[in-house]
Amino acid sequence: MGRTETGYHPPMSATVIRTRFAPSPTGFLHLGNVRTALFNFLAARLLGGEFILRSEDTDAERSRDEYLDALLTDLRWLGISWSAGPDADDSHGPYQQSLRGAAYAKHYALLEAAGHTYPCFCSATELAVARKAQLASGRPPRYPGTCRELSAEERAERAAAGRAATLRFKVSGEDSVRFQDLVRGPQRFELADIGDFVIRRSDGTPAFFFSNAVDDALMGITHVLRGEDHLSNTPRQIIMLAALELPIPRYGHISMVVADDGAPLSKRHGSTGLRELRSFGYLPLAICNHLARLGHVYDDPGFMSMNALADNFSLERLGRSPARHDTTQLRHWQKEALAHGDAEAFASWLLGSESPVGDELAALLPDGREQAFAELVRDNVEVAGDALHWAAQLCSSPMPVTSAALEVLRACEPRLIDAAIRQIDAHPDDFRALAVAVRADTGLAGKALFMPLRAALTGDTHGPEMARVYHFLGPGEVSARLAQARSLVGLSVS
Ligand code: GLU
Repeated sequence: MGRTETGYHPPMSATVIRTRFAPSPTGFLHLGNVRTALFNFLAARLLGGEFILRSEDTDAERSRDEYLDALLTDLRWLGISWSAGPDADDSHGPYQQSLRGAAYAKHYALLEAAGHTYPCFCSATELAVARKAQLASGRPPRYPGTCRELSAEERAERAAAGRAATLRFKVSGEDSVRFQDLVRGPQRFELADIGDFVIRRSDGTPAFFFSNAVDDALMGITHVLRGEDHLSNTPRQIIMLAALELPIPRYGHISMVVADDGAPLSKRHGSTGLRELRSFGYLPLAICNHLARLGHVYDDPGFMSMNALADNFSLERLGRSPARHDTTQLRHWQKEALAHGDAEAFASWLLGSESPVGDELAALLPDGREQAFAELVRDNVEVAGDALHWAAQLCSSPMPVTSAALEVLRACEPRLIDAAIRQIDAHPDDFRALAVAVRADTGLAGKALFMPLRAALTGDTHGPEMARVYHFLGPGEVSARLAQARSLVGLSVS
């Protein structure tokens, strides 16, 4: 079986490094599986190897072409590319498991011929009963071996009675399977704890253990980074590949992504779907910078390009403890990603055909003011939706007033707004000069001066620099807004 003193190991050879992402196209990508794709992609780039994509679509009922299409589109959008995949075949393909029946048939036949398998006629109910009994007596649940020793006649009888059979792989021996996990170090599993496992379902389709491992071997995969939920599958896959005398990849089981509260990611933790995040205007590199640090540590805390993320990636820096996703961090990287682009890139992200809020912005912004608006709000926008807030605040008439701004205006002295109204004509395009004049007029300074002016002109208590807001609004709009604000001043005194 190709075993050595130190356990089962992949043969050492000078083969090309190949990593892969092997999703099942049964839904849209979420942050958890995108991170797996990214780690494998970065590892391939770091090691000078190839990254491939394989669609594990053996579940015909749940797999959909539209999910596969979405997957390819979304990974490409993220900046992840593959040298071979469902849309780009090479000599190791096809890269869709539903098209690999011939390769599977060949390897089932090899295992059968070498006496490693047997048909199992146990029904789901029989298996459940056996499992329950084992659990009740404190034993780990594993297949009890009911069909292992059936005679040829007994098998024929059951088949003739129309009982569908799965194909099981025999696991025997007192030994253990040992391997060096790329993330979790030395691993050891006792063969006695591993029951004979199903490698072909009763409907003839390959079981995960089989197609996943056989494909890795046939596709020349050298390194597999995958979720730790697969750790207990690995010893089964290793003994089966060894029985087939196929190369065994090196496996690394990465910690799961959990939310802030330690629970697995779910809807209640906010958006975790890649499409959803894209629709909010998150940038690919913001998502990649965020994900590459979930369960992996970089020395450099700064924003990185995809090349830098790959150059500084290291298998040794993959952590074992659960990786925590929190939206605040993602927003931090989004801010960084926006700050690393130039004004032009920001404007085209916000206003271009890809913008998730393009249509809504077009409805809010006066014609011809789009570029000026993009420049004005650049430092105040993290996700594209933020721009809608500023477009509404700065371009709607009457101006929307947030509750915080309303509070400021209600508490404001009327003479401040009156003074500002009197000064507009003298300082139509110079906010600083207007503020100096109002201060001279009222004796108000600092926050007592600037906060009411901000509330009066923007309807909010924070936002872009006032001098730029003033310039953007222009004297006509400034007058209208001061008049509106004046009507709100002192209302609380009633
Ligand atoms: N299709 C499997 C999954 O999505 C692949 C597991 C693996 O990476 O080996 O969980």
